[in-house]
Amino acid sequence: MARLQCKCGETMWNGQSPNDIEVWCYTDRQLDEILANDNISILELADLYSYNVWVCPRCKRLYVFDRSDHTKVRCIYALEKED
Ligand SMILES: [Zn+2]
Repeated sequence: MARLQCKCGETMWNGQSPNDIEVWCYTDRQLDEILANDNISILELADLYSYNVWVCPRCKRLYVFDRSDHTKVRCIYALEKED
């Protein structure tokens, strides 16, 4: 459980489960492996992700966290255009 202040001023918090802040990203290869194993537990699934990404609900910036250090933001993407 953590909080992160977005550059737009929004405070994000992942303390609720489920929440709309965190997005778990898997590569296509990982997804194939996951789908091939129909007995995978939620705990195993949660450990296979490539990236943990937080999405700011206000400005839609993406904060990508370091896989080895969940407290370290690896990179930030800002929205250029929204339809
Ligand atoms: Zn924001």
